[in-house]
Amino acid sequence: MPRVLLLLPTTTYRTPDFLEAARSLGLEVTVASERASALEGVNPEGLLTLDPREPAACARRVADFARRFPIAAAVGVDEETVVAASAISAALGLPANPPGAAVAAWHKATLRRRLSAAGVPTPAHLVFSREEDAARVARRVRYPCVLKPTFLAGSRGVIRADNPKSFVVAWERIGRLLEDPQVARKAGKLAREILVEDFVAGPEFALEGLLREGALTVLALFDKPDPLDGPFFEETIYVTPSRMPEAEQRRIREVVAAGARALGLVEGPVHAEVRLGASGPSLIELAARSIGGLCARALRFGTGMSLEELILRSALRLPIETLERERPAAGVMMIPIPKAGVLEAVAGVDSARGVAGIVDVTISSHLGSRLVPLPEGSRYLGFLFSRAATPEDAEAALREAHALLEFEIRE
Ligand code: ADP
Ligand code: CA
Repeated sequence: MPRVLLLLPTTTYRTPDFLEAARSLGLEVTVASERASALEGVNPEGLLTLDPREPAACARRVADFARRFPIAAAVGVDEETVVAASAISAALGLPANPPGAAVAAWHKATLRRRLSAAGVPTPAHLVFSREEDAARVARRVRYPCVLKPTFLAGSRGVIRADNPKSFVVAWERIGRLLEDPQVARKAGKLAREILVEDFVAGPEFALEGLLREGALTVLALFDKPDPLDGPFFEETIYVTPSRMPEAEQRRIREVVAAGARALGLVEGPVHAEVRLGASGPSLIELAARSIGGLCARALRFGTGMSLEELILRSALRLPIETLERERPAAGVMMIPIPKAGVLEAVAGVDSARGVAGIVDVTISSHLGSRLVPLPEGSRYLGFLFSRAATPEDAEAALREAHALLEFEIRE
């Protein structure tokens, strides 16, 4: 059986779903993560410790490993490992994104620069160093704008500012986040950068796609029916298929495909965020990975294939019966974090599960754990999943189920 290398950061939500997909395909699996495991000595072909911040070192280590245990595909999961996965694939001669393209999709300032240079609509941007004087920078930018670090995901550190005063507050707040030891460890020298871009008003969409030899197939286009106007950008509801007119959907698809060409992305999953602004679609994000959290569980293909299985099949060039999503509409809600504090109790889960159209309720934060809202937080409270005849019904089920949940949080 072919062997797949799964790069699974210790913080990922996707481990069980990727392992299950690999198991159902009968693959040999090597799991690589950044933290050394005591089991590595017991199970040397099954576990590897790799620091994804050092893609070149990862590539050498895996090339060496692959001489004993040949690897047929290296799959990066989540934002942190996609650059390392492309370096590893390049070293092994496997079809993958060129490392430069993976870096461009990952590093937000490079993404903006490459998209603008290629004429792909994306917010106008400026990159500043944290050492600069915030009040002076605040006078040089236009409003409303969005400030963000250049290397985080999940809307962490993304803050809208409407005037110089709120700009300075946001700048300082991002500065404190960048000094957090765990964030700083991830960042290296990127911890000095703050990206400032025009705020693009308008509805937002998420596109889940799969690239194969440069050709993009759209797997799902999600509407985000809750407005994302800031000042923080907590994601809530995603519903597919989109209710936008087909002409608008086509423009969104075209912008994502143009973005992939501009960056040189050619293989594997992409997750894009597009805003439909006054002057048309604007590409906010184009990540060389699949959708985050547990949201992929909202998607099933053909007669029930998971997104993870589809990604593995594509990477291994195994047959794929269909890239068509199943017929019913589907929705997922990333449950908003109502306030900061310790999660003491959750009520209403069974009633929420009982709502017509709800297929699953997963509370992913453990009781006793600390909930940190955006812009600092990085963990989800939980997820609601719905399936219904229409997108309207899929959305309504999520709202009804969410209203039945009660969270007791001790401040
Ligand atoms: P991340 O990779 O952390 O998700 P993004 O750059 O995608 O960071 O920003 C997260 C969210 O913040 C976006 O999905 C969008 O809702 C909002 N956002 C970010 N930048 C802009 C912008 N320039 N204009 C409007 N909204 C933005
Ligand atoms: Ca995003």
